[in-house]
Amino acid sequence: ELYVRKNVKVNYIDGSDDKKWSKKDFSWTKKLEANNKKVFGNHSFRPNQREVINATMSGNDVFVLMPTGGGKSLTYQLPALICPGVTLVISPLVSLIQDQIMHLLQANIPAAYLSSNMEWTKQQDILRDLCSGHCSYKLLYVTPEKVAKSDALLRQLENLYARELLDRIVIDEAHCVSQWGHDFRPDYQSLGILKQKFPNIPLLALTATATASVKEDVVQALGLVDCIIFRQSFNRPNLRFSVMPKTKKCMEDIDTFIKDNHFDECGIIYCLSRNDCEKVAKKLQEFGHKAAFYHASMDPNERASVQKMWSKDEVNIICATVAFGMGINKPDVRFVIHHSLPKSIEGYHQECGRAGRDGQHSSCILYYSYSDYIRVKHMLSHGSIEQSSFASRSTTLNSGRLLETNTENLLRMVSYCENEVDCRRFLQLVHFGEKFDPLSCKKTCDNCSKTHTLVDKDVTQIAKHLVELVKSVRQEFSGTYILEVYKGSMNQIVKKNQHDTLKLHGAGKNVAKGEASRVLRHLVIEEILLEDIKKSDLYGSVSSILKVNEKKACNLLEGQKTIMLRFPSVVKVSKSTATTPAKGFLTSSKQTPSRVDTAAPAQSQPEVDSNLSTKL
Ligand code: ADP
Ligand code: MG
Ligand code: ZN
Repeated sequence: ELYVRKNVKVNYIDGSDDKKWSKKDFSWTKKLEANNKKVFGNHSFRPNQREVINATMSGNDVFVLMPTGGGKSLTYQLPALICPGVTLVISPLVSLIQDQIMHLLQANIPAAYLSSNMEWTKQQDILRDLCSGHCSYKLLYVTPEKVAKSDALLRQLENLYARELLDRIVIDEAHCVSQWGHDFRPDYQSLGILKQKFPNIPLLALTATATASVKEDVVQALGLVDCIIFRQSFNRPNLRFSVMPKTKKCMEDIDTFIKDNHFDECGIIYCLSRNDCEKVAKKLQEFGHKAAFYHASMDPNERASVQKMWSKDEVNIICATVAFGMGINKPDVRFVIHHSLPKSIEGYHQECGRAGRDGQHSSCILYYSYSDYIRVKHMLSHGSIEQSSFASRSTTLNSGRLLETNTENLLRMVSYCENEVDCRRFLQLVHFGEKFDPLSCKKTCDNCSKTHTLVDKDVTQIAKHLVELVKSVRQEFSGTYILEVYKGSMNQIVKKNQHDTLKLHGAGKNVAKGEASRVLRHLVIEEILLEDIKKSDLYGSVSSILKVNEKKACNLLEGQKTIMLRFPSVVKVSKSTATTPAKGFLTSSKQTPSRVDTAAPAQSQPEVDSNLSTKL
C-alpha cells in the first residue's frame, strides 16, 4: 500500500504576504503594462495578477488559487507575449482551448493547440514549426493525454528546451490532478514528467479549487518543491447563502422566493436530472416566469439557442444540470437556486459563484432534503449523473474507483446542509483551507441571521470516545465509519471487522443525530484528528482515513481539556413557532430552515430503490 503523507517535504512560500511581487521596477514592468493595455485592452490588473506574473517571470514555480473569473489566463498569456520563446499550456478540454485560442488570435497573438483527435498531418505541421528556426507560436496548448502519450511532443519540447526556447509550463485547472477535486482527470497525474525533464523551466499551476488535500496532491504530482503560493479569499461578500428544507411545496417556495426577491431578474436553478430540469422549467412557466431548461442530452443547436435567449434576456431563468455553467459569463445573475443537493462543497461553491459577478447582491439558496442525499448517492453509484463539462469527458473507466471519493464529498455536503449553527461562509471556506471570522459575515447567511438561542454544550465525553475509537480501529478507517461504529451499527463491514465487539461500539447510540458528526468535524478542524489520504492501489484509488494527532489529543484524553460546542436549543423549535429569517432576507418559506429531521428518509422519490439503506 502506498501512503501519501501530508507532511512530505515541500516548501511553500506564501507569495501574498511578500510585497516584493507587487513592485513596479522589474525590468519587464513597462512592457507588461503597455501590453496589458494595448493587446489585452485592460485598464489595470486585478488582484494578484501582477504579483503572479512577477513571480513566474522571476523564474519561480508558482501555484495560483484564484476564484473563477478572477483572471488566471492573463497571468500566463501576458508573460508568453513578452518572452522570446514558447509557453506550453496544459488544459483539460479541447473546447476550452479552442475558445482561448480564438481570443488570442483575435488579439494577434500566435497560438496553436495539439490534441489527439486532431488530424495527424495538422499535428505534424505544428510540431514541425516548433522545431524550425523561427518558431511562430507564442503559446502552445495541449491536452494532458498528449503529454502522457505522445513521444513526438516530448521530443519537440526537449528540442525547444535545448534551444532555450521553452519559456514556461502552465498547468491550467490544476485541480484535475487530484481525485479530491471535483474534476479528476487521470492523465493529469502523468504531468510530473514535465518537472523531471525540464527542472529549470518555471512551472505555473492555476486553479479555482483547492482544498488542502487537493493542493497537496497537485504539488506532489507535479513535483513542485519550492513553490510560491498566491491565494486570495474565496469569500464572495455580495452573495447571501441559505439552506431551506425541501418539502412537497418546494416549487411554490421557489416561485414565492423569486417573486418576492428577484422578480424578472436573472437566475439559474440547478437540478439533479434532465427530467427535473424540464419539470421545474414547466412549473415555473405555469407560475408566469420566463423559464427554459438546459441539459446535456439536448441537441447542440437547441442548447445554443437557449444560451442565446438567456444572454439576450428573452428568458431569465434557466433550469439546468451542472453541464450549464462553464463559460457562462453573464454578470447579472441575481440568484442561484439548488433544487437538489449538490455533489460536493467545491461544486456548490463554483455553481453559486456564477451569481453576482457584477458585485451586486445576489442570493444562493439550497433546498435540502435527506431523501435527495439517497437519490444522489444512488445516481452516483450507477454512474447516471450528469457531470460538469470536464468530468463528463474524463474516462468512464475510472468512475468505479471514484465512487468512494464522490461519496465522501457528498457526505460533506450533507453535513453542510445539516449544520444549523455555523456561518455558511465559514463552513465553505474552511473547506478551501481558508480561515474566516464569522463576524465578518454580518448576517448574510441563514445561520448567522438566526435569532433563536444557542446553547453551549460540553461534548468532551463524545470527543474522547471518538478519538479512542479512531485508535481502537488502528487508524485505518474513515470518519463515516467511525460514526457508524460509535452509533452501534451492525452493518456487514462492521461485523466483518469485528468492530461490533469493541468496548465503544454503540457508546454513542443515545447521542442526538448530527451531534456526533459535528463533534467529529470539530476534531478534524482542530487537528486533534488528522484526515489522511490513503492510496490503496497503484491506479490511485483513494480514500480518507482518520488518524490521531497525539500531540494535540493527549490533553483531551488525559482530561485536561474540555470541548464546548454551540447547538441550537432544540426545545424552542417546532413547526408552528418556527422563527422566520431576518427581515428582507430570503423570505421564500415560512418554515425555518433549521430542523433537518423533518426530512426523514425518502418516501416518494421515484428513482430510489426503497430498500436502499443509508449510511448515515
Ligand atoms: P479565470 O480563468 O480565472 O476563470 P479568465 O482568465 O477566463 O478567468 O478571465 C475572466 C474574464 O476576466 C475574462 O473575460 C478576461 O478578459 C477578464 N479579465 C482578466 N483580467 C482582467 C483585467 N486585468 N482587467 C479587466 N478584465 C480582465
Ligand atoms: Mg481559466
Ligand atoms: Zn454567516
